[in-house]
Amino acid sequence: MAVEPGARFLDRLRDALPRLRLLTDATDTEAYRHDETPYLHPGTPLGVCFPTSTADVQAIVRLAAEDQVALVPRGAGSGLSGGATAVDGALTVVMTGMDRIVEIDERNLCAVVQPGVVNADLGRAAAERGLFYAPDPASFEWCTIGGNLAENSGGLRCVKYGVTRDAVLGLEVVLADGAVIRTGGKNIKDVVGYDLTHLFIGSEGTLGIITEATLRLRPMPPPKLTLLCFFQTVRQAGDAVAQMTASGLVPVTLELLDGFTIRAVDAALRLGLDADAGAMLMVESDVGGAASEAEIDLAARASEVAGATSVVRSTDPAEADWLREARRRAHWSLEQAGVARMDDVGVPRALIPEMLAVIERVAAEHGMRIGVFGHAGDGNLHPTYVMDRDDPAAEARIDAARAEIYAAALGMGGTVSGEHGTGVAKRGYLEAQRGPDAVRVMRAVKQALDPLGILNPGKVL
Ligand SMILES: Cc1cc2nc3c(=O)[nH]c(=O)nc-3n(C[C@H](O)[C@H](O)[C@H](O)COP(=O)(O)OP(=O)(O)OC[C@H]3O[C@@H](n4cnc5c(N)ncnc54)[C@H](O)[C@@H]3O)c2cc1C
Repeated sequence: MAVEPGARFLDRLRDALPRLRLLTDATDTEAYRHDETPYLHPGTPLGVCFPTSTADVQAIVRLAAEDQVALVPRGAGSGLSGGATAVDGALTVVMTGMDRIVEIDERNLCAVVQPGVVNADLGRAAAERGLFYAPDPASFEWCTIGGNLAENSGGLRCVKYGVTRDAVLGLEVVLADGAVIRTGGKNIKDVVGYDLTHLFIGSEGTLGIITEATLRLRPMPPPKLTLLCFFQTVRQAGDAVAQMTASGLVPVTLELLDGFTIRAVDAALRLGLDADAGAMLMVESDVGGAASEAEIDLAARASEVAGATSVVRSTDPAEADWLREARRRAHWSLEQAGVARMDDVGVPRALIPEMLAVIERVAAEHGMRIGVFGHAGDGNLHPTYVMDRDDPAAEARIDAARAEIYAAALGMGGTVSGEHGTGVAKRGYLEAQRGPDAVRVMRAVKQALDPLGILNPGKVL
């Protein structure tokens, strides 16, 4: 009797890497089928494996290429566009076992890390040496550097320090044929050949598997000053953001929560926030000393001009930590009220008030609860659809609402994803965003790097 190709591949994998942790039982692999995006429909994987070295990954990819078995790279599974969701008959390759901080190089202000390192762990290790790793997605306590690189993730400090891309000096990548390449190293300036580092960043596991990264560190900035501004309407908060941007203010953090999200966070964490407010802005400055005071003054004035009902400075670092944590827990807090599907749109920053108005209108017209929070200073908002757990039409209702929100974002020259990626959730909007010729270039890149189509098939393209 002929051996089924998937089973043959698994047998060869066991022979080649007898110490590789490999799960094939459906009960064991279930936890690795989904990411954090509700209402997607993942496939059933052939298995789930946990490499612990670049050599492991190389062997896995070589065998997969020979047997034409697809691979789904995966970090912590915190993604919000379905990038790491399982594909029928594919092997999911979980990178969390490669979690070594190889080096913190204080003389060159950089770190060399494996992809399974959790973002916050790198931050803590850098801080022990007086250094700072800037990119900090709200999921930073569990998402991995590999996932951050593959999604080009943002976070709460992007206004000032940029996104993951801006902190990467070089990568080690296993290509679809098993070859290993290095795209850069510790040089701050290095312009030889095409910029492959930035080709792999944001490629969502479709062009190669990242096995090491050299990341930029900075000197630890001074302690932050924090400002909270409450408004009657989200529109006023949006106006304040637009004014701050126009005045040249570049705070380290400029985050927005709408009234629904404020109440959800307050109910969940009991922080004593103004539960009657229609919106709140959290502004932070890390320049230090009088300059920080001046930044916070400027932000307070812009908020008052936009109609803030109250403006509160936090002088207590512990309180500021709590407030930041409250913002990070916004999604979790909304999940207490139902199934919360967090979306991700971006607009040029001056158009934040218009985008907020669109989301408010869509929520009213569709009779849906849409909490809004996000990185307003980057023009990046997370409208979050909160659905009844037993609503059979939830997915269709979300799809109808998000289609309108995306159309409005595109009409404003914005984007259907500021930081969560394309994955499967936004694949259908790729051409509307980039145009057919740009998508043709993307397909040509994919074809050149992964001619057999074994790396994360069906994602992005
Ligand atoms: C509550 C919450 C808050 C969040 N806040 C933010 C935020 O502020 N900013 C933001 O940008 N995102 C945010 N996210 C989304 C998510 O955390 C990020 O996209 C994160 O970078 C994903 O990391 P991960 O390790 O979980 O990756 P996964 O979800 O496991 O994978 C994400 C993608 O990366 C690919 N991948 C993973 N590892 C590798 C590798 N080594 N090589 C190649 N490809 C790989 C996968 O194939 C997949 O396409 C949030 C998510 C949640 C649930």
